[in-house]
Parts: sequence; structure tokens; C-alpha cells
Amino acid sequence: MASRAFPPPGHDHGVCAATALAAAETLCQARGARLTDVRRKVLTLVWQSHAPVGAYDLLARLNKGGGKVAPIAVYRALDFLMTQGLVHRLASLNAYVGCAHIDAKRGGHNHNAQFLICQGCGCAAELESPALRRALAKAVAGRGFTINREVVEISGLCPHCKSA
Ligand SMILES: [Zn+2]
Ligand SMILES: [Zn+2]
Ligand SMILES: [Zn+2]
Repeated sequence: MASRAFPPPGHDHGVCAATALAAAETLCQARGARLTDVRRKVLTLVWQSHAPVGAYDLLARLNKGGGKVAPIAVYRALDFLMTQGLVHRLASLNAYVGCAHIDAKRGGHNHNAQFLICQGCGCAAELESPALRRALAKAVAGRGFTINREVVEISGLCPHCKSA
């Protein structure tokens, strides 16, 4: 499981990216959501690696060949991708990472996820722990508080950086 969450440094990342893009296409088609050119490009750039990337880095990459995409267009594309559950925003890094759990049939997973962020290589992986959610809900209920959205971000070292 650990190796699946954090693919080894030399893995064939083209496969990860192609799989995610194909799933995104299918999902958008099924929902009647338009994966426009800019949206698709932004998603492709987010999927260049497993490390979260900031909006301005995305903009720079997008305009590398002399393009003139405006920052607002990138933010709008990111908003769309987040709404569709294709991309997650990591608040602690102010950066975005592609969702590796897109299921075209199920239409995405529960995105109240926990994120593991490696301080060595910068990679991020999602951990979906129902036990953790239950524990959190229980702890919060005692305060009379209702959770709308919960995203836990945990930084540390991935198995590859740990063994390096
Ligand atoms: Zn990969
Ligand atoms: Zn996800
Ligand atoms: Zn790492």
C-alpha cells in the first residue's frame, strides 16, 4: 500500500498522468462538464509529478512557449478541477495536486481526505482513513461542533526519502 501511495522515484509517471487524464475525461463527459483546453492543460501540468504545484508555477509553465494565459484563467480552471474533484488544494503549501482516486463510475471518492506530504521530495499522497474520520467526529461532537469539511495535512518523510 505504501508503495502505491508513494510511487518510487523512477516509476513510469507517464502512466500515472495518462490514467488520471483519461479518468478525468470520462468523468467530465459523464457529468456533462466541459473539460476545456485550458482546464485540460492545467490538469496535465498538475499531473507532471506527484508534488503539489502552486498556481503561479502552473501559470509560468502554461505560458512557457510564449502563451498569454491570464492568472485568473488558471484560478478558474483550478476551481473547476477542484469542484469536479480532479484536483486537491493543499492549504499548508498553497499548492495543488491531482487526485489519484478518480473513479469514472463512482464519480470520485470522499474528499474529506488526509494528505501525507513528504518534506524530502515534495510528493503528496492521500490517505483515506475512515477510522481517523470517526475519531475526529467523535472528538468534535463533544464540543457541540459540526464538521462541514475536514482536510488533514500531515508532513513527514515518504518511504523512499526515509530509506535514502
Ligand atoms: Zn506517477
Ligand atoms: Zn482525491
Ligand atoms: Zn519523499
